[in-house]
Amino acid sequence: MEYRESDYESRYTSTEYTEADADVEISLRPKSLDEYIGQEKAKSNLDIYIQAAKMREEALDHVLLYGPPGLGKTTLAGIIANEMGTNIRITSGPAIEKQGDLAAILTNLSKGDILFIDEIHRLPRTIEEILYPAMEDYALDIIIGKGPSARSIRLPLPHFTLIGATTRAGQITTPLRDRFGVVLKLELYTSEELATIVKRSASILDIAVTEEGAFEIASRSRGTPRIANRLLKRLRDFALVKGNGSITSDIAKMALDALEIDPLGLDNTDRRILRAIITYYGGGPVGLETLAATTGEEAVTIEDVYEPYLMQIGFLTRTPRGRCVTKLAYDHLGIPYTEAKGAAGQASFFDDTDES
Ligand code: ADP
Repeated sequence: MEYRESDYESRYTSTEYTEADADVEISLRPKSLDEYIGQEKAKSNLDIYIQAAKMREEALDHVLLYGPPGLGKTTLAGIIANEMGTNIRITSGPAIEKQGDLAAILTNLSKGDILFIDEIHRLPRTIEEILYPAMEDYALDIIIGKGPSARSIRLPLPHFTLIGATTRAGQITTPLRDRFGVVLKLELYTSEELATIVKRSASILDIAVTEEGAFEIASRSRGTPRIANRLLKRLRDFALVKGNGSITSDIAKMALDALEIDPLGLDNTDRRILRAIITYYGGGPVGLETLAATTGEEAVTIEDVYEPYLMQIGFLTRTPRGRCVTKLAYDHLGIPYTEAKGAAGQASFFDDTDES
């Protein structure tokens, strides 16, 4: 995924992992399924698969985790390794440039090891193809020689578990997706779950936060633990300078307003995207690339980082003809709602709900 340099600096609500997160994230990452808050469905399924694999003394089936950034995919991979009592080797799609890179990683694995490939949808196709026999037959096919005399030899690999993470399941090729026995979708977190995460992180980092303060942070974190943890860290400074060190509801509100994060967790970029659709495209529909050009954001960033939450709170809809802003978003921005000229799909959506 391409993110602009400025995103790293200016966005408290960015879901992307930054250098500043590195120190805290390690200490905040839950180590066991019990400590991992929320994602009940994914967790209970995983629990069964892990127990069964342990009882059979076999490697866990390959697992594909998908969902927006910052929801806990890497954390979950680490937890799986912990629960299985195995080693984990972490890499990412863009980091593997040559077939030889992946072959070297695979041949260095031991039985039961976990190989975690983040952003697996970004693996080049030629490299991805090495994974097919590796996942299916635990074998590495190596071509020796060139041209008509080239021949393929097959090296056995230890039984390992591949955990792939991606922000979009749709970008994974079918042959790759089909080779994952377990496919788990991570959902955005509820405010209650995020408040629990905030309180847990606060106690680890020794930050004083009240119940209401934690809930205020949670409700402005766009359903994303990484954002909640980052805001908690920032608000600690506000509490120290503007209060008595404790993050109360008042301190949280004041600080989040100062950071221009509104009560729904939207920041300037979210509002800019919504306003652009309203101002220039009459509320939509507008295509992703056009929207990217208008707002100066990368299309992939809009799609992976901004849209999931805007859709979750019902501000944005994706239609076959493009993105549309809903009346809820107009109301939130204080812009009078006028029936969008092209937003037929959206209008009929509201008509339907009225009738039923
Ligand atoms: P992803 O790999 O999906 O981008 P990460 O696994 O890096 O996300 O999670 C980001 C941070 O959010 C982690 O440091 C972790 O502290 C926190 N986190 C994520 N999921 C949970 C959870 N379910 N419970 C508690 N903390 C979580």
